[in-house]
Amino acid sequence: MASTPVRNKSFSTVNSDDIIYFKKILGEKGVVEEEEKLDDANTDWLRKYKGSSKLMLQPRSTQEVSQILHYCNSRCLAVVPQGGNTGLVGGSIPVFDEVIINLRSMNNILSFDKVSGILVCEAGCILENLISFLDNEGFIMPLDLGAKGSCQIGGNVSTNAGGLRLIRYGSLHGSVLGLEAVLANGTVLDMLGTLRKDNTGYDLKHLFIGSEGSLGIVTKVSILTPPKLSSVNLAFLACKDYTSCQKLLSAAKTKLGEILSAFEFLDINAMDLVLKHLDGLRDPLPSSKHNFYILIETTGSTESHDKEKLEAFLLQSIESGLLTDGVLAQDINQASAFWRIREGIPEALMKAGAVYKYDLSLPPEKMYDLVEEMRGCLGAEANVVAYGHLGDGNLHLNISTRQYDDSILTKIEPFVYEWTSKHRGSISAEHGLGLMKANKIHYSKSLETVQLMADIKKLLDPNGILNPYKVLPTSVLPQRGEEEPKKEA
Ligand code: FAD
Repeated sequence: MASTPVRNKSFSTVNSDDIIYFKKILGEKGVVEEEEKLDDANTDWLRKYKGSSKLMLQPRSTQEVSQILHYCNSRCLAVVPQGGNTGLVGGSIPVFDEVIINLRSMNNILSFDKVSGILVCEAGCILENLISFLDNEGFIMPLDLGAKGSCQIGGNVSTNAGGLRLIRYGSLHGSVLGLEAVLANGTVLDMLGTLRKDNTGYDLKHLFIGSEGSLGIVTKVSILTPPKLSSVNLAFLACKDYTSCQKLLSAAKTKLGEILSAFEFLDINAMDLVLKHLDGLRDPLPSSKHNFYILIETTGSTESHDKEKLEAFLLQSIESGLLTDGVLAQDINQASAFWRIREGIPEALMKAGAVYKYDLSLPPEKMYDLVEEMRGCLGAEANVVAYGHLGDGNLHLNISTRQYDDSILTKIEPFVYEWTSKHRGSISAEHGLGLMKANKIHYSKSLETVQLMADIKKLLDPNGILNPYKVLPTSVLPQRGEEEPKKEA
């Protein structure tokens, strides 16, 4: 488990006058004090972190968010912005008694332009609802992830979520055209542009993409969505070793080119785990076991051209020995079943017991060396499971054990972070730092960079009320009434 920070003494505690004020601006419904509802909001998806907040607020408009923050800042009440609470690094739940501000009631689609494909919506829209809405309009979201049924677009933007389509459509730093955010003091920053090009000064929206609620609350988002293309194909493939997976990736990039829309991998441990713990799933390649499985999706506009291209590529890959087996989804149901295997891995890991999760960016040629070294370190004590977005160089390394155990953790950390840093990787490819990795940022960022981040945080949130103890080490952020930590010479 992550080491828990000490509560910042300068933060106030919620009192009855605060509740009266919040009820006045939000009404009874927007102020949640029921234990059961708070219990869910205090617990993260992994059930690894638990806060003890006594209050959750559910604003319905930007103006309400602004009023809440203005008030909390003046009272020095710490807050934690919360979306769908599917984050995997303990960022979305309070550490102590911070007030939870959940955006679920801000879930309106504000506009959609069918010519440009630009969608403008409130931050609390659930990703899957946006996907369905766009489907009816003949468009798709540029991001898709296993948590789509619960995560909110505001949470996606705040974590700069990657997911299954990044290889094709790039990160949210590219697709998000504008956003509206509320600062700690209640100031509303209207940066909700819908322009593809706008070079008027610093592009401040990027500060809020991936800052995990530490700089402001995202209230609205404008996002560029690609048209839905009619031809989607999905192949479930098998490789005998990791080198073949890498070669297959470079061949896919060259041979499938513009139609490649996903390239995901899972190893045999991940496959076994999913088949064991999730009901109703079948091995698509049942004739024998394979060391590695790959999902390749293509998306294009001409069915015959795309199929021909994909089939030729698969045939060549089998002939050259890169692939040992494979099957093409015959219809949408089979495609969903294939995706369910890949997307179901986090759920299967949860069912298997305790899980130590690492989300790493690494040079693809080095990626699996870490998995094997980890297996060497842990032996029979743990099941080391690897999967991820191979097309983006993103490994999800998961160590599954019956229960959390400090003696196992000391074998994993700091080894995994040191290994990643040595190979110039990132200790967080897409999940963020949250509480889990706030103190580990130095493995991926220089002292000077972390210091500048702390300076930006202090400028935008001088009282440090927004998502405290997350993202940045508390050592670089002064607490009120304390001296600022000395800067490096
Ligand atoms: P939350 O979990 O509620 O919050 C996440 C962080 O954002 C917190 O720090 C919170 O304070 C902040 N936040 C939330 N809303 C706002 C807001 N409106 N304004 C400011 N800050 C806010 N992630 C990926 O990147 N790729 C994947 O493929 C992927 N797959 C997943 C699969 C499963 C099964 C699960 C459970 C998670 C997965 N995740 C993945 C992680 C997670 O779903 C993403 O990080 C997601 O973007 C979080 O959205 P959320 O609405 O649940 O945010």
